[in-house]
Amino acid sequence: MRQGSRRVKSILNYINGQFVRGKREFADVNPADGSVIAQVSEADESLVDQAVQAARKALRDEWSRLGVRDRAARLHKLADAIETRFDDFVQAEVADTGKPVALASRLDVPRAAANFRAFADLIKTVGLECFSTETPDGKNALNYAVRKPLGVIGIITPWNLPLLLLTWKVAPALACGNAVVVKPSEETPATATLLAEVMTEAGIPNGVYNVVHGFGPESAGEFLTRHPDVNAVTFTGESQTGVAIMKTVAATVKPVSFELGGKNAAIVFADCDFEDTVNGASEAVFLNTGQVCLCAERVYVERAIFSRFVEALKHKAESLTIGSPLDRATELGPLISAAHREKMLSYYRLAREEGATVVTGGGVPEFGNALDKGFYVQPTIYTGLAESARCVKEEIFGPVCHIVPFDAEEEAIAMANGTRYGLAASIWTTNLKRGHRVAQEMNVGITWVNCWFLRDLRTPFGGMGLSGIGREGGMHSLNFYSDATTDRQLFHQSDRSHGHGQVLAMACGGEGASAGRCCTCDRAVLWARH
Ligand code: NAD
Repeated sequence: MRQGSRRVKSILNYINGQFVRGKREFADVNPADGSVIAQVSEADESLVDQAVQAARKALRDEWSRLGVRDRAARLHKLADAIETRFDDFVQAEVADTGKPVALASRLDVPRAAANFRAFADLIKTVGLECFSTETPDGKNALNYAVRKPLGVIGIITPWNLPLLLLTWKVAPALACGNAVVVKPSEETPATATLLAEVMTEAGIPNGVYNVVHGFGPESAGEFLTRHPDVNAVTFTGESQTGVAIMKTVAATVKPVSFELGGKNAAIVFADCDFEDTVNGASEAVFLNTGQVCLCAERVYVERAIFSRFVEALKHKAESLTIGSPLDRATELGPLISAAHREKMLSYYRLAREEGATVVTGGGVPEFGNALDKGFYVQPTIYTGLAESARCVKEEIFGPVCHIVPFDAEEEAIAMANGTRYGLAASIWTTNLKRGHRVAQEMNVGITWVNCWFLRDLRTPFGGMGLSGIGREGGMHSLNFYSDATTDRQLFHQSDRSHGHGQVLAMACGGEGASAGRCCTCDRAVLWARH
C-alpha cells in the first residue's frame, strides 16, 4: 500500500506458522513525526480462536513432548537468530516506539536475546522436590514433583518496552513446554511480528508461537483472555487494565501473572555520592522518556542537599539531547502517541493548578522541522506539591518528577510508602547499613541501593498492591508457566540395592516418567523416560 509517495508496509497476524490477514486494519504511527509506517491487520474473534486452536494442536503434537534439552537448544537458536537480525529488530522498535536508537541497541534488543538464553539455561538445570516417607507397614514411598506445561498461554503486553517485555514472558513459557498466543500493544505491533519470522529459522514448530493484533476491550485482547482454551494469562500494562482482565478471566478461573503500573520513589540522603546520584536519578526519571514502569516520579531528598540536588537535576534535564530517535546522540525521544502526550500535558496543567513550582519544563519543545509533528514533551521537574496532590498520587508515565525535602529517615520512608502502588524504589546513600535498612522498609517488589534498573534475570520481579500479582524471573517464572504435580511411588527397602532410588530421582528432573519392571527382581518401578 502507498501513502503519498511512501510505501506503507503491512503487519499481519501469525497463526500456525502462516502470516494471516484479518478483515480490518489499523494504522501504526511513528511517534517521532506522526507518519503512518504500517497498516496492521486486526484479528477478529474467529482469528483469535484459530490462533488458540493452533497452539493447542502444536502442544499436543510436538512441543511439550520434546525433551528439555531439545527445547533449550532451540531457544538458544532463537537468541542467535535475534542477534543475526539485530539491526532489523532495532529499526522496527525505534520506528514503533520513538525510543532513541542508542537505547534500543543497548537495552531492548540485547535483552530479548538474553531472555531466551537465560530461561533455556535455567530449565536444563532445575530440579523439583523429592521426599521419601515411610508407611506404617514398613514400605517406603517416594513423593516427587513433576513439572508440566500449563498449556496455551495468552500473553498481553504494553508499548513501552515491546520486545523486551514480550520475550520476558515468551521465553519461560516456551522453556516450560507451553504454546503461546501473544497480543502485543496496538501501538507497537512490529517486533512481535518480526519475532515470528525468526521462529521457523530456530526450529520452533508451527503453532507454538502465534501473534494476534488488535486492541483491548471487545477486541483481540479480550477475545484472548476470555477464550476457554487459554489456560493462563500473563499481562503487563496499566493497573486498571489488570482489573478488567481479572474480571474476564474469573469466568474460566485462569491463573494470572500481572505486572502493572507504579508510582516509584527515590530517596536521596545527604551522604550520597552526589554526582553518581544525580546521574542515577536522572536515568531513573528520564530513561525512555520516563516510560518505564520502574521510573521514579517521586524524589525525596534530605534537606541539607535539597537545593543543590534540585539545581543539579534541573541542569541534567535541560542538557538532555532531545531529537530524532534515529540520531545516535539523542537521549530523549517522543512519547508513544498523541493521546499519551495529551494525557501528559493535562498533568502538566494539573500540577500548576495544584500549586506546583515548575523547576524546568512543563511544555512542548520546538524543533522547526518534521519533529514538530511528533509527540514530544519537555523533561519536567516540580517542587512544592502536597503529598495528597493527584500529580503525586497517580502514575503519569512520562519524563517528569516531583522533588520533596525531608528531615528524618522515617519521614522519607513514610512518604515513599504513601501510595497504593508498590513496584520499585531506589535508595541513594554511602551508609550501606542505612541503605539496607531503608530498602527493607520499602513496600515494593524491587529496591535498588545506589543504582537503578540493574537486573539479574534470575531474581524475582513484580509488584505489590496496585503494581501486580505474582513474580516473574528465574524460578518464579518457571513456577508460573508450569504446573508442579505430585506423583507417589511405593517401593520396598530392598529396591534400593537395585538402584531404583536413583532411577526415581532421575524421574524428578522434569523429563517425565513411566512405570516399568526392574530387570533384576521384576518388581514394578518407575523409569525415567529416556
Ligand atoms: P495498557 O494496559 O493500556 O495496555 C497493555 C495491553 O493490554 C495492550 O496490549 C492493550 O491492547 C491490552 N488491553 C487493554 N485493555 C484490555 C482488556 N480489557 N483486555 C485485554 N487486553 C487489554 O498499558 P500500556 O498503556 O500499553 O502500558 C503502560 C502501562 O504499563 C503503565 O501503567 C506501566 O506502568 C505499565 N507497565 C508495567 C510494567 C511492569 O513490569 N510492572 C512494565 C511495563 C509497563
